[in-house]
Amino acid sequence: MTASGVRAPAPLRQLRDLELLLLAHHPVILIETIEEERAEGLLEHVADHLDMLYLQWRAGSGLVHMQTEHVVKETATAAGCLQHILGSQLEALYYLRDFAPYLTRDELRPLLRDAQQALWRHRGAIVFTTSTHAELPDEVLQLVTTVTLKPASDMDYHRFLSAMLRDMRRRRQVKMDMTPKDVARLIQQLRGLTFFEVKKVVTQAVAESWSFDKSVIERALEAKQDVLRQSGVLEYTPATPTMADIAGLSRLKHWLRTRKAVFANPDGARDFGLTAPRGVLLLGVPGCGKSLAAKAVASEYGLPLVRLDPARLYTKYIGDTEKNLRKAMRIAEAMAPIVLWIDEIEKGLAPGDGGGDAGVSQRVLGSFLSWMQDKVEGVFVVATCNDISELPPELLRKGRFDEIFFVDLPTPAVRQQILAVHLRQRGRTPDDFDLPALAAASPGFSGAELEQAVVGGLYRAYAAGEELRSAHVEAELRDTRPLSVTSAEKLARLRAWAERRAVRADSEDYSR
Ligand code: ATP
Repeated sequence: MTASGVRAPAPLRQLRDLELLLLAHHPVILIETIEEERAEGLLEHVADHLDMLYLQWRAGSGLVHMQTEHVVKETATAAGCLQHILGSQLEALYYLRDFAPYLTRDELRPLLRDAQQALWRHRGAIVFTTSTHAELPDEVLQLVTTVTLKPASDMDYHRFLSAMLRDMRRRRQVKMDMTPKDVARLIQQLRGLTFFEVKKVVTQAVAESWSFDKSVIERALEAKQDVLRQSGVLEYTPATPTMADIAGLSRLKHWLRTRKAVFANPDGARDFGLTAPRGVLLLGVPGCGKSLAAKAVASEYGLPLVRLDPARLYTKYIGDTEKNLRKAMRIAEAMAPIVLWIDEIEKGLAPGDGGGDAGVSQRVLGSFLSWMQDKVEGVFVVATCNDISELPPELLRKGRFDEIFFVDLPTPAVRQQILAVHLRQRGRTPDDFDLPALAAASPGFSGAELEQAVVGGLYRAYAAGEELRSAHVEAELRDTRPLSVTSAEKLARLRAWAERRAVRADSEDYSR
């Protein structure tokens, strides 16, 4: 049994992988995961299968034989624990909980090295977990075999949920009021939660009325929002806008739509020889729909949208920044399939940024790039960027993103469409307005500025006690100096850069 009281079912492939490592005499194994509960469940199964003694260590309480609950004397400290392992010569599996921080201590390292040698002879193994191996010194990493615990699959969640409900129903009557469809929705919401969190949220929700019903789904969503909030850098974002809310960007929309089917049926796509796209980088003029597009992708693909704020990755504690990033990436992967929106990527991943420590930024960028390379399928990244001068060239190299799109200022035809979208959103009929005249009166305006002109026009009309007319919007346009005029030079640089390296997100002649 795990600490949560329910044994976490072991994913078969990972069970086999771990068994193979033990059979091949890997004496010190590091499992990289944020889910200690699952690692613990896995180790119990492995010890069972291989018929090995299984001992667990916790600071303060020491080593405990899990089969007999016998506590081994004088092992309450990390050094005591390693010394015991060294001397006992047992063919045992030792799971040392929360041990990773001790391994940064110089005085413990020789003990670990000796224990490694001893276990190698006696066919035992020490296992510990960490959310990221980046926090461990190289000397320790040389001694260990690192494995990554893959995120739980829907089947894993299903089995854990069933085991948990069985356990609850043994103790008390629970009214079961969920259809298989509801359970599937619940599992979708549970993705990304650790088994420990699942146990907590489901138990609490069920215990309120001793009923397993739709309210559990709502609770799971709240729990997930909390987990993301606690990560400090991720945020669950409602993706209400759809592609229909975006005017223009025809080429980008077409690109995204062509790939939609892969997310709808990843297995079928894989059989067809396709892998899920990694993501796109949208760079361009502020206020021209980059963020809007990120949100619309999520609703188009029917996936949750999680926003990562790279500027918040940086903490004042050295080393924590990379840890924050890796943890965020793991949470994102565990939640897959999702759209991960990295807003203003230049704010966090440009060397030299983030509190002035270029070394840290460089390492963060390195971690991010290797993550982009190796990440699990099903995390579709939409990164947005306003300023390429701050972007490191490595990020733009081919293969990182599937495509780099340049979002330029809208053309006159698209300006008409943008005005129409925003008039419609405010309950007006676009046909009642002289859109060609308004588009002609707004050269250099961004989508955000056009939207503002509609809003400003509404205020004007309301103050005058009139219905909104083209003249009100036109007056607003006349009073606005668009950003493209005030920062013309910057825009020209961006355009020249994008000309050679990016695909235009909008293309008027695209449909031809
Ligand atoms: P920033 O870099 O400043 O965040 P952005 O390119 O991400 O800018 P958005 O936040 O997407 O721009 O745009 C701001 C608002 O302007 C949107 O919420 C939307 O209301 C309006 N807008 C911009 N472009 C378009 C568009 N192409 N179609 C419809 N509305 C648009």
